Amino acid sequence: LPIVALVGRPNVGKSTLFNRFLRKSRAITHDMPGVTRDRIYGECVMGDVRFDLVDTGGMVLESEATPELSKDFEDEIFEQAREAIEEADGIIFVVDGKEGLTPLDRQAAEYVRKSGKPVFMLINKVDGSEFAPQMTAEFHEMGIEQMPVSAAHGYNLHEVRDYVRRFVLDLGIPEETEEDRVEAGLKLTMLGRPNAGKSSIINAVIGRDRLIVSDVAGTTRDSIDVTFEKKGKRYTFVDTAGVRKRANIQDHLEKISVIRALKNSKRSDVTVLTIDITLGVGRQDKRLIEFLAKEKTPFIVVVNKCDLIPKSETNKALEAFRRELRVIPHVPVVMTSAQKGVGIGKLLPLAETLRRECEIRIGTGALNRALAAVLEKLQPPVVKRRRPKFYYVTQADEPIPTFVFFCNDHTLVKQSYVRYLENQFRKLLGISAAPVNIVFRSSH
Ligand code: GDP
Repeated sequence: LPIVALVGRPNVGKSTLFNRFLRKSRAITHDMPGVTRDRIYGECVMGDVRFDLVDTGGMVLESEATPELSKDFEDEIFEQAREAIEEADGIIFVVDGKEGLTPLDRQAAEYVRKSGKPVFMLINKVDGSEFAPQMTAEFHEMGIEQMPVSAAHGYNLHEVRDYVRRFVLDLGIPEETEEDRVEAGLKLTMLGRPNAGKSSIINAVIGRDRLIVSDVAGTTRDSIDVTFEKKGKRYTFVDTAGVRKRANIQDHLEKISVIRALKNSKRSDVTVLTIDITLGVGRQDKRLIEFLAKEKTPFIVVVNKCDLIPKSETNKALEAFRRELRVIPHVPVVMTSAQKGVGIGKLLPLAETLRRECEIRIGTGALNRALAAVLEKLQPPVVKRRRPKFYYVTQADEPIPTFVFFCNDHTLVKQSYVRYLENQFRKLLGISAAPVNIVFRSSH
């Protein structure tokens, strides 16, 4: 899918716009108790056009910079914006019509212009057509096509959506065809810090097997997918150029482009996060794990270089990694040594399992028998003197197993009971490693 980034200085309303654009396409996640999904990345559907939207505003994490390396706040913001601009196919540049043109706007516009990427400007906080002429006047000098909008009050939003639709169409990025998908087989994305051993693992997995193609994908100039065959099955490592590129950068901050990571995870079946056993789970790893969990990405954690620690310590190390993943206990952890060939053989079969589990489709009859059994075993606890009532459950047509529970009032369902439901359904339906989405719909 094409990727469009919302770029602009803080507080111009990027997140509000982001939510406005996403709203229609994420109805399915609405009724989820206890989960606030502050996403930075989401799929938008506007008419016949689909694209991924990135909100760079949500990515500024000031506390992330360690004090000695900390640049000032502005630099940090531009770092995020630069990353977004670099990874995006098109850019929506957002400014604040109430505040007017600021030096930061000019600076951000400069980055955008230099990138040469298609761009247009939204002048936000224009709360009605009567304000538009005056509030937009000074932005003309920037020479970027522009539209006034009010993300908060909805002024011009309909027109903006239509404009965005045409903007994305004009980017001319082809959608992946069914044929492409078959050709590529199972797709894997490798993530992890530089030198964790990603390239070595790719090499070890492919081994002497036949490399089918190693071509430059049409969408991004600098991403290289590698397709190969193993035991008669096809696999593709997505964006191996990204793996190499990062590995060659001497970057003491070890910054991983989160957008690139997300983008590649989105266009593959399984994501593999590689961690160097001698270094443990670092700040960037934590950040990636958090994103992958939040986005419900099917992923595997590979703990590499196990040849570098004594055998007697491997169990202890493995436990430490599992502790890091305690909020997502279903994620498989594999110990490997790319150098010695240990554990490498487990990767592709595990990826197959993950994909198979994601593709599970269960009929309504079987689901409701499962629900009856689960309710029989443990009734949901009474909340505010009312007991949640479940009417029935269906599976939604989503890329990962998503079960929609129809109930009287989802606000009565406790988080602990949601976990119970998830665990029971996993057991009964045989979903051990894939992410599962539990969604509620209330009919009061
Ligand atoms: P990438 O940046 O994640 O792609 O990492 P590379 O695959 O380039 O590996 C970085 C360094 O770690 C190289 O010097 C590899 O030889 C080394 N390395 C990779 N895997 C292993 C392993 O399992 N054991 C040991 N001892 N070294 C490894």
